[in-house]
Amino acid sequence: MRRGDSLINMIKLYGKTLSELQEIVAEFNLPKFTAKQIADWLYSKHITAISDMTNLSKKARELLENNYEVGLIKPITESVSNDGTKKYLFKIDDLKFIETAYIPEKERATVCVSSQVGCKMNCLFCSTGKQGFQANLSTNQILNQLQSLPDFDKITNIVYMGMGEPFDNLDNVLKSLEILTSEWGYAMSPKRITVSTIGVIPAMKRFLDESKVHLAVSLHSPYDEERQKLMPVQKKYKLEDVLAEIKSFEFNRQRRVSFEYIVFKGLNDSKKHAQELARILKGIKCRINLIRYHSVPGVPLETTDENVLLQFQNELKAKGIVTTIRASRGQDIDAACGLLSTKQLLK
Ligand code: SF4
Repeated sequence: MRRGDSLINMIKLYGKTLSELQEIVAEFNLPKFTAKQIADWLYSKHITAISDMTNLSKKARELLENNYEVGLIKPITESVSNDGTKKYLFKIDDLKFIETAYIPEKERATVCVSSQVGCKMNCLFCSTGKQGFQANLSTNQILNQLQSLPDFDKITNIVYMGMGEPFDNLDNVLKSLEILTSEWGYAMSPKRITVSTIGVIPAMKRFLDESKVHLAVSLHSPYDEERQKLMPVQKKYKLEDVLAEIKSFEFNRQRRVSFEYIVFKGLNDSKKHAQELARILKGIKCRINLIRYHSVPGVPLETTDENVLLQFQNELKAKGIVTTIRASRGQDIDAACGLLSTKQLLK
């Protein structure tokens, strides 16, 4: 019986790396070059069925179809913001959902992908954190958020800043990056991809060694105690150790490190904070992205006033730090930073 005819789930080809595809073709005693042909159909030609792989022999297609499927799924809903941002909902299984944001701008279009269903890191200001952890996404499920978007052809940039902590699901994130940046995959420039972390040090080291894409670190406070309250990860992986690790790594000119800083009213927006940030970041060629806080119900934090935000930016600039204020996008559809959550779907 074909697996597709039974209750057994077919294994998905989409999301396999070239070496994984080579293992599959070796298992079926197919010619070695078949693996590259399959990769080409999956990642360049974007087919959705094995029967579309027309340069594979009939026997090869049959063998594959008996055991595998391409395995792409479409989003189940799409919400569109007043500013053009779109939020897509994907169903992972009956109890698990993820969200993906598509953010079009004048000259580029960025997709913010999720790496987990929920998150275990429990950052105070984050809706995903309130949801708790449900599952790691497979490489297939990470990349499906790109390939299955109606706007796929317009995507120019990818940020791993959706639901979940990417470095808590590092193997699958690294595999997805390999597929995105390899010649046999999407052949995308690593300069167009950024992975964001709250600072999981062992995984960050591996990421720096094994990929070429940009790194973004969520900073949010330069002070230990204050950061602990915002981000419990600070108890395990101290910011000073995260920064020491970054300072010891040799970034080439193509690769960027940036710091994300959500600005909370009266908490981390003072001149003292700006000065301390400049002090601890000394020696790192970086940029700080200031992010307006988007209120999460039940969280006792507020958005900083615009004039204070600008003043804070100027303090940092005066200290020689390249600082930008990130535009808030998709707030009306809860697609803005920190608002992605699929908890309500579980009720
Ligand atoms: S900010 Fe990131 S790491 Fe923290 S709870 Fe939210 S998704 Fe998890």
